[in-house]
Amino acid sequence: MYKCYKCGEVIKDTQKLEGLVRCPRCGFRIMYKLRQPAVRRIKAL
Ligand SMILES: [Zn+2]
Repeated sequence: MYKCYKCGEVIKDTQKLEGLVRCPRCGFRIMYKLRQPAVRRIKAL
């Protein structure tokens, strides 16, 4: 997931063009990388 630096649009489906990700809303290229909430299971004995 990416969040646009400019307009704050959150893009789930990223269209990667040679490693570049564009905001479909404003076309801005600089984005935050958002980490998906990782579900980690910790082994509990
Ligand atoms: Zn944008």
